Amino acid sequence: MSTWTELASGVWVWRTSALDLSLGLVVGDHSCLVIDTGVDSEHGYEFARAVREITPLPWQVVYTHDHYDHWFGTEAFGETKVWAVGAVDTYLSRGRLEREKLSVRYRKDGEADKARRLGRTRLVPPNSPLVGTVPVDLGGRTVVLRQAGFAHSDNDAVVEVSDASVLFAGDLFEAGADPSFSDAHPQQWAAVADYLLSWKPQHVVPGHGDPQDYWWARRQARDFAEAARLAHEVRTGLITADEAAAHAPFSEATMRTVIARTAEFPSAPPAPAPEPQIHPAPQPPQVRPQYIEEIWIPPFPDPPERN
Ligand SMILES: [Zn+2]
Repeated sequence: MSTWTELASGVWVWRTSALDLSLGLVVGDHSCLVIDTGVDSEHGYEFARAVREITPLPWQVVYTHDHYDHWFGTEAFGETKVWAVGAVDTYLSRGRLEREKLSVRYRKDGEADKARRLGRTRLVPPNSPLVGTVPVDLGGRTVVLRQAGFAHSDNDAVVEVSDASVLFAGDLFEAGADPSFSDAHPQQWAAVADYLLSWKPQHVVPGHGDPQDYWWARRQARDFAEAARLAHEVRTGLITADEAAAHAPFSEATMRTVIARTAEFPSAPPAPAPEPQIHPAPQPPQVRPQYIEEIWIPPFPDPPERN
């Protein structure tokens, strides 16, 4: 089951039961932009036909990141511009690996039809690199494709439709289920989410689940910060993993993934040793080890325009 919702004039969300995805469409005067394409070729054809129910205009495609459910449906869109942050080779190698792994899992789980659909899926890697911000003129409206850093994945991108106050956020936000941290950079996600919300978009379209409003997204950004803090405190030994899981803003399983992912990245480098002093000044006693936050400044040159 899949249905269209028009969030604002010419700004559409295709809600589909496949993984509860929200795929996007922004229509201008002379062309349209398709945001993500679905879980396999067949799903992509269904989506492309649905887009043609809305508009006959030429399209281009943008991927919000390289997880398969966001780009395996692209074959249906034929020869067209495909924007994404990740490199072609990375998309292809990760895509092939994921297609194979999933096919094996589906067969093991008795879902042979899904495995067959995946087997028939041709991968379409991006052909237009998205670096920093890219304005795309659709005729009468310009949308901004924005590289969104290391957060849900290492190649996140979002789409800002400022004239309609809509942010297509990919999996940087997720409604109806916990956000997925399995490829995430948990210590950076909250700062990225805060930045993406800094122009106060009225509508935030998560990669999965129903479209939400600004205040919902702000609460989820706060949850990212709290989860990152808990994981950091587990790493420094201030609290235990069990304590973090018990008091997390997400489910216990999700919090354990946050902790595991945080542990995979190096912690902040130790402070340099002080210069030796002949007459050292008296120092106040150190009651706690110094806390050094890992701060990542996302490469966002200019904020979106506000109307
Ligand atoms: Zn994802």
